[in-house]
Amino acid sequence: MGVTGRERQLLAILKLASEYLERQGVDSARLDAEVLLAHVLAMDRIDLYVNYDRPMDDRELAEYRAVLRKRASRMPVAYITGFKEFMSLEFAVDERVLIPRPETEILVETVRDRITRASKERPRIADIGTGSGAIACSLALMLPSARVLATDVSSDALGVAKANVKKHGLEDRVVCRQGDLLEGLGASMEREMVDAIVSNPPYIPSSELDALSPEISQYEPRGALDGGPDGLDFYRRLARGCVEFLADGGFLALEIGNGQAPDVIGLLTEAGFGDVESIDDYSGTARVVVASRPAGCRVLKNGAM
Ligand code: SAM
Ligand code: GLN
Repeated sequence: MGVTGRERQLLAILKLASEYLERQGVDSARLDAEVLLAHVLAMDRIDLYVNYDRPMDDRELAEYRAVLRKRASRMPVAYITGFKEFMSLEFAVDERVLIPRPETEILVETVRDRITRASKERPRIADIGTGSGAIACSLALMLPSARVLATDVSSDALGVAKANVKKHGLEDRVVCRQGDLLEGLGASMEREMVDAIVSNPPYIPSSELDALSPEISQYEPRGALDGGPDGLDFYRRLARGCVEFLADGGFLALEIGNGQAPDVIGLLTEAGFGDVESIDDYSGTARVVVASRPAGCRVLKNGAM
């Protein structure tokens, strides 16, 4: 990278950086070069263009080189900057958690709309496998009377979720609890039932994990992605286990992977859930499955999941 005169100006540096990332096989090289430069200079991306001829000093250049090297090793931008935007909110992220995906916003919107329609005074929601806490926190912010229980099997992930709960000032309404799937619900909320169970569980078939992009396969937690041999392990367990924790009129909302809708709809229907339907994401792929608690079902205490 040039170090004298014009070559230190933002626009010239950006061009070099973007070419470098492109050579390293980064898909969104120009965008990433801009986002990372804005991060290093603590500016908005748009300001890079307003300040296109601003020279960078040695310290800034060294810092920018360091983050570019990380990106060239295919570390995702969000792990480098330490945050990700989701539902127009900022969430802290690092390698302990999956980076929240835009398609997961469909899941959040689905739950928000159903809860709003039910107009319950103090709705209770459980987010299973909360990771960064993005789903739990955004729901709590959009539904100001709701209480959310956020669970994860990973205590590392819960460390990030708790930081995000605090960042958004939600300590009084979002509780984080460690546990294997529904275990975290057992002793929670004074043993009351929840009105909604929401989850974006791991759903990638184990054999497909290594073929994912290096950003995912080398950096995101395996435990956040691995859905077992056919990717459906968590749906089987949730289909069997959730009924016990859902209040009358309660529902289950799950994110699913590409092509999993028929199987997941089948599992929930078999488990007795009603009104089972899938909802498409913006690319027309079925991304969310929702289902109502089986009517008049017998609640088994200590039921196996
Ligand atoms: N909810 C976050 C989101 O949508 O961005 C993270 C979803 S990530 C796909 C799945 C999460 O489930 C990970 O945080 C992982 O640690 C958690 N998880 C994996 N196995 C689990 C289990 N047996 N019980 C509870 N959580 C589990
Ligand atoms: N959406 C993620 C991906 O395809 C997978 C997340 C999950 O397993 N729930 O990278």
